[in-house]
Amino acid sequence: MPENDTDVAAHWLFGDQLGPHFLTAGPDGPHRDTPLLMVESRGVFRRRRFHRAKAHLVLSAMRHRAAELGDRVTYVRADGYVEGVREAVGDAPLTVHHPTSRAALKLVRARPSTRVLPARGFLVGHDAFREWAARSGSGQLRQETFYRWVRGNHDLLMDGAEPAGGRWNLDHDNREPAPRGAADLGVPAPYRPREDDIDTEVRADLDRWEREGTVEFLGEDGPRRFPATRREALSALRRFLEVRLPTFGTYEDAVLAADPVMSHSLLSSSLNLGLLDPAECVEGAEAEYRAGRAPLNSVEGFVRQIAGWREYVWQLYWHFGPEHRKANVLRAHGEVPSWWEELDSGAVTANCLSHVLDDVRATGWTHHIPRLMILGSYALQRGWDPAEVTDWFHRAFVDGYDWVMVPNVVGMSQFADGGRMTTKPYTSGGAYLNRMTDFCGDCRFKPTVRVGDDACPFTAGYWAFLHRHRTRFEHNPRMAQAVRGLGRLSDLDALLEQERDRAD
Ligand SMILES: Cc1cc2nc3c(=O)[nH]c(=O)nc-3n(C[C@H](O)[C@H](O)[C@H](O)COP(=O)(O)OP(=O)(O)OC[C@H]3O[C@@H](n4cnc5c(N)ncnc54)[C@H](O)[C@@H]3O)c2cc1C
Ligand code: SF4
Repeated sequence: MPENDTDVAAHWLFGDQLGPHFLTAGPDGPHRDTPLLMVESRGVFRRRRFHRAKAHLVLSAMRHRAAELGDRVTYVRADGYVEGVREAVGDAPLTVHHPTSRAALKLVRARPSTRVLPARGFLVGHDAFREWAARSGSGQLRQETFYRWVRGNHDLLMDGAEPAGGRWNLDHDNREPAPRGAADLGVPAPYRPREDDIDTEVRADLDRWEREGTVEFLGEDGPRRFPATRREALSALRRFLEVRLPTFGTYEDAVLAADPVMSHSLLSSSLNLGLLDPAECVEGAEAEYRAGRAPLNSVEGFVRQIAGWREYVWQLYWHFGPEHRKANVLRAHGEVPSWWEELDSGAVTANCLSHVLDDVRATGWTHHIPRLMILGSYALQRGWDPAEVTDWFHRAFVDGYDWVMVPNVVGMSQFADGGRMTTKPYTSGGAYLNRMTDFCGDCRFKPTVRVGDDACPFTAGYWAFLHRHRTRFEHNPRMAQAVRGLGRLSDLDALLEQERDRAD
């Protein structure tokens, strides 16, 4: 363990620690003159099949950061992290900020003379969370309670001890379906970056690796749609706050086929790469509210996503421990089919699913409702193995990292932990999707039909799911009524047979 800064050969920056806040000096940070080390591991891409746009984004962001840091950084391209670090500094002492995955933490802890500094890139420290969790008792750690605690502690959208506007939660105002008949929300387009020579070099490397047959990817790569530098990320944040935040709230849960982004911020990849600090995002949003430029429902909705959901998910990843990833209380063992793995939207008849898979193939991104209520809900209804589903989400999304995928997929979307994060499974029939999306009008199926050629796979899938788990859910106060509804289905046997045979 290095005793003091003069012993340290380098401070190691992981590929998701790219913003200036990872280099702020102080007792919990690297010395301002300490040399820096970055390791680009090709083994990461060899081991798993990632979306190519994600591989491009991560490599582009790392190489851009190395170019900015100039002589201060040693940038190593290696087969793995251990080899890369050894090549650069041998066994010399290092510092590193707490990495974001359990595997990376194990790796840095196993290395001799490595001092792990506290995590950065989040509003709440691990110690503060542990104290809060201990105070909260042994029951479920509710996101809403956590969120209010974060708001109060960080004086975020607060008027003294009270929430701004008198209410903590404006979710009720944020569940409107998209305006009827509108193809898009009509809001100014989000910021999109322009590629440069580093992107050209990254693309050439990815092409070569694929040609050599050492690495395989999913989906399409390009043009790059998400920020790879701090400057680009700040431009994206500014544009969102100035022209898109005002309409963020109302239609947050709506989905339009021709407007996949709507008023969402597209900031997740920048936050998760460490290019943006969450504090500057939520404080920027609050400033728009205080200046009267953005309504409270939008600002509170956005602050809740970051100070509530993102922080909560980060903390639960560590709090629930390594077993959470393996949770499978619904005993779902179905395999993820090849058309899903290949993002083969053309093989899918359901219009909603086909569109969303197509968006993932083209961009590696969709907003939270397609993730939760279309992709996740479909996988849940079909009984696919939650660990496989988690792995797929991790690889297919540009913003997917271990810490964010495990709680979101295992806990939120697949209910595989039996309700440690949510009080009921997030799944629905076609009626919900018909209300909140514009997919059903052009679909071969009908959301109201559950049996026969026109049967909507979500409507039929919902009933088949409830039937499979009726014993578990009949005593759940939020599910009991739905389970009782099974008794009124005269065509249940035919429905179950139909869903057993469904191919997509
Ligand atoms: C099944 C499933 C998988 C998901 N996987 C990821 C993932 O791998 N990476 C990821 O960053 N988000 C994930 N999310 C959360 C959320 O869907 C994305 O953060 C969001 O869609 C990204 O788009 P945006 O930046 O436009 O978000 P906005 O709608 O503009 O929200 C603002 C920000 O809030 C944060 N946020 C909101 N909800 C969550 C959440 N549940 N967990 C973490 N951060 C949140 C993100 O940083 C996001 O940028 C997942 C959600 C579900 C249901
Ligand atoms: S009818 Fe069903 S399958 Fe078709 S778009 Fe609507 S919800 Fe999706």
